[in-house]
Amino acid sequence: MICETLSVFPEVFEPYLGVSVLGRARRAGVFEFEAHDLRDWTHDRHRTVDDAPFGGGQGMLMKPEPIFEAVEDLASRGPRPHVVFFSPCGRRFDQRVAERLARDEQRLLLVCGRYEGMDERAYGLADEVLSLGDYVLTGGELAALVVIDAVCRLLPGALGDEMSAVDESFSTAGLLEYAQYTRPASFRGMDVPEVLLSGDHARVAAWRRESAIERTATWRPDLIDGAELTGEERERARQIASRSREGETHGRA
Ligand code: SAH
Repeated sequence: MICETLSVFPEVFEPYLGVSVLGRARRAGVFEFEAHDLRDWTHDRHRTVDDAPFGGGQGMLMKPEPIFEAVEDLASRGPRPHVVFFSPCGRRFDQRVAERLARDEQRLLLVCGRYEGMDERAYGLADEVLSLGDYVLTGGELAALVVIDAVCRLLPGALGDEMSAVDESFSTAGLLEYAQYTRPASFRGMDVPEVLLSGDHARVAAWRRESAIERTATWRPDLIDGAELTGEERERARQIASRSREGETHGRA
């Protein structure tokens, strides 16, 4: 996988993508990363990328010309990129989208906005427009980092243990991940559930399934309808969800 960003702050990516799992994966050749500076496709002395909006209003908008030139130029080098733009108006990025991008794309070109966003015509270059969620960031760079992180950790060889992406939140059956514990078994009067110390794999598996259902029903009851559950499990999940709504126990399980 080749990930490229196009942005006016190309220097912000490297510190994050150089460390830990992603840093190792890059050094191992699991994915390549290159940050492009949008200003390299401007032609004036001030390397201008923004201008005032027609019709008035606050702030500045990114001009279409450098974005078109940059995306066309980059697309002409190497395999055709999948071009992603970012906007709060885009489709919500989630684990399903991350899985699709990791599976289907060889080259991602992530185009990051700044200021009040972009001239509407620039979005014509996008294969898709993604949003991180219903809030407004100052720029698309964080969104690009989020997408690169979520996608590249799914690539074969990125996580040391090939299984570690399998059990996670959203992956199995549309449930959140089960509760996990490490040593010490007893900490400030809080004990790890006895079953996890038992070494009985079948009981541990049953406990984890139960824990995943309980956490999903408590924290994200909106996921229950789409989760793969037996009739009995679904009924229990609904009961937990309605109890937790009554008790307003959000935030702690
Ligand atoms: N005026 C725009 C927001 C512009 S924010 C509006 O109200 O819709 C500037 C840039 O930050 C955007 O072009 C986009 O690239 C990025 N950005 C802001 N919020 C985002 C979000 N929720 N998800 C993804 N990118 C976002």
